[in-house]
Amino acid sequence: MNQRQLKSFEKLLRERRQELLTDAVRTVSGMNDSKDNFPEPADRAALESERNATLRIRDRERKLLSKIDEALDRIGEGTYGVCEECGEAIGVDRLKARPVTTLCIDCKADQEAEERRQRGWD
Ligand SMILES: [Zn+2]
Repeated sequence: MNQRQLKSFEKLLRERRQELLTDAVRTVSGMNDSKDNFPEPADRAALESERNATLRIRDRERKLLSKIDEALDRIGEGTYGVCEECGEAIGVDRLKARPVTTLCIDCKADQEAEERRQRGWD
């Protein structure tokens, strides 16, 4: 990967990070605002399930946020785009589709096959 590509991934990751943080602030303030506006039990239940759904999304976004931070760290360290399993370069096309990935396509396929095997034993 050349320096220009690396810079564009850094920009992409920083923008995505900013979006996630902006959304997170908006959701938290939205949750506080609506808390007292639904005194009826039925509405409260609806609000509660809506909030649970929101928290599940938050959890997923929180994980993504930490992956983005790790990816930015790797850019700083000069290890971005290198597979952490085999040390080979991760294809630029794969990084474009999934900028936070730490595995090349082959190692990812191995990992998924392994996960499927483990699920089968449960
Ligand atoms: Zn690999």
